[in-house]
Amino acid sequence: MNGRADNGSADNGSAMTERYQGALMNTFGPPQRVLVRGEGVYVWDIDGNRYLDLLGGIAVNALGHAHPAIVNAVTDQLGTLGHISNFFASVPQIALAERLLALVGSPGKVFFTNSGTEANEAAFKATRRTGRTKIVAAQNSFHGRTMGALALTSKKAYREPFEPLPGDVVWVPYGDADALAKAVDDTVAAVILEPIQGEAGVVDPPAGYLKAARDITTAHDALLWIDEIQTGMGRTGAWFAHTGSGIVPDLVTVAKGLGGGIPIGALLALGHAATLLQPGNHGTTFGGNPVATAAALAVIDTIVADDLLANAKEVGDRIRTGLAAHPLVIDVTGEGLLIGIVLAQDVSAALQQSALGAGLIINNPTPNRLRLAPPLILTADEADDAVKTLLTLLDTLTPLDGEAQ
Ligand SMILES: *Cc1c(COP(=O)(O)O)cnc(C)c1O
Repeated sequence: MNGRADNGSADNGSAMTERYQGALMNTFGPPQRVLVRGEGVYVWDIDGNRYLDLLGGIAVNALGHAHPAIVNAVTDQLGTLGHISNFFASVPQIALAERLLALVGSPGKVFFTNSGTEANEAAFKATRRTGRTKIVAAQNSFHGRTMGALALTSKKAYREPFEPLPGDVVWVPYGDADALAKAVDDTVAAVILEPIQGEAGVVDPPAGYLKAARDITTAHDALLWIDEIQTGMGRTGAWFAHTGSGIVPDLVTVAKGLGGGIPIGALLALGHAATLLQPGNHGTTFGGNPVATAAALAVIDTIVADDLLANAKEVGDRIRTGLAAHPLVIDVTGEGLLIGIVLAQDVSAALQQSALGAGLIINNPTPNRLRLAPPLILTADEADDAVKTLLTLLDTLTPLDGEAQ
């Protein structure tokens, strides 16, 4: 079926890529491959090649590809009640909101969206209801591509073509509690932070940073908004990456892994923040859709049933230990199955390309960092295979400076 490598055929990878480029807007650059099928931690391209997926749709495919729990939940829900408007409520929507609040461990209220950036838009609007407008964000942050979330994203290349964006945003160096303390005063509505910076290349804050951020915001009656869109829902071996710091934020945004591949995001507004948005202040047609919320419930149930938080921790550490042994690897970062590999040279793009050729999907967020965010179902054996391949590729890439090898 997919096993052909018939380059003359009209449905091979290069012909399909040409059609893509003829019909799809060029915002992402050329696609790396055209994929036709996925199962577990593997995907197959249209030419029949198999890849071990260590990126998981960018931290989305928590249960891998075509997991029966999601397939069944979506199929059953779609066959029962597929979409309603937010004039009505559905049972999976209510159950998921209760479940998320139980997992975050604090009372609050949930607003469902279809994506990460929309969860951040909802939170951004909630911050405006404090009567203050100033937001403090971190350098190298990523919070999304819509105009509001983009206003909080620090990368100039993303922002500048679209200015003016919503204003009154200041940036501080990530991980620097003193700089944060200096930037926050009684005019600040909120501080937004990723508990680990994902798009920046899996950058960990120093110990105590989130706790300091909580103390600083509390002292000035400002909201602490934790963007868990990449780190949340078990990715780091905990339901949320911030809980290890012992803090309770005011706003928590989640998305990526939440639906295991079905688009859904959420704003969890905790404590007093739960009532900032009032009737008429915000809305969505699709957000909280029965099918998407049923998928998310299936993801959470499976993470619990299969003990995938523990698996994420164990297998993540195994990959870090395996790769840290290579002389070109100068640091390993992240938690659980959100993994950063810091390289001594700017070879991440070359490595990403050679890995793809060797049947491994990895990501190169910066010139000297690799990011891995595989499905939480990744087994130790699959991880060992991947590490072995990566170590071999690192060897071939390593003309160690000044050393005759
Ligand atoms: C991916 C991401 C977003 C944006 O999510 P989309 O679903 O792409 O809109 C926001 N914040 C963080 C931390 C992310 O990783």
